[in-house]
Amino acid sequence: MEVFIKTVTIGNWKVNCYLVACDGEAWIIDPGDDFETIISNLNLDIFKLKGIINTHGHFDHIGAVADLQEKYKIPFLIHSKDKRLISQGNLYRSLAGDLTVKKTPVIDEYLDNLSSLTLQDKMLFIHYTPGHTAGGVCLEIDKNLFTGDLFFNNNVGRTDLSGGNKELLFTSVNFIFEKYKGFRIYPGHGESFILEENLIEKLKSMI
Ligand SMILES: [Zn+2]
Ligand SMILES: [Zn+2]
Repeated sequence: MEVFIKTVTIGNWKVNCYLVACDGEAWIIDPGDDFETIISNLNLDIFKLKGIINTHGHFDHIGAVADLQEKYKIPFLIHSKDKRLISQGNLYRSLAGDLTVKKTPVIDEYLDNLSSLTLQDKMLFIHYTPGHTAGGVCLEIDKNLFTGDLFFNNNVGRTDLSGGNKELLFTSVNFIFEKYKGFRIYPGHGESFILEENLIEKLKSMI
């Protein structure tokens, strides 16, 4: 069976929440701000949901996690180095000018020592790619790579937000350039794109 990916773009920060599904099973990736929009767009009730995985813990990517956990009784997985971002999500949201208070997610499992998860007979590989945040990961399935904010606005990701580190980000994006040429990149914000050779050259020249 083919992997099926559906995107819903949500909230003030236009975060991409992804559903990655195969033969009736699905993972939810980065469910940002708006629970209702996610529910009404992703048709979640028809899937056997395996859980929620976050590429990183920035507040704009986590707003619907707790409500989804509660409604579907599914686990939430993230790298432990982003756990402070999760526990302080409401603080960071308010600093960004949004005073909405969201329920704080409970982390059920850390990705730190996991190299892969499954989706039916497919492998969903987990790669530790810090730099945008200390606990950033990329998720790989078939020829698709979910990168979170490692790429942003036709450039590599920002490192000036909480948890950012330029050196680590460069190492992580160079790893992506080496290993994922030709893959479709699903970023945290904006349209998906194919990581073609000329794009790699252009991005390399900007870092
Ligand atoms: Zn981010
Ligand atoms: Zn973001």
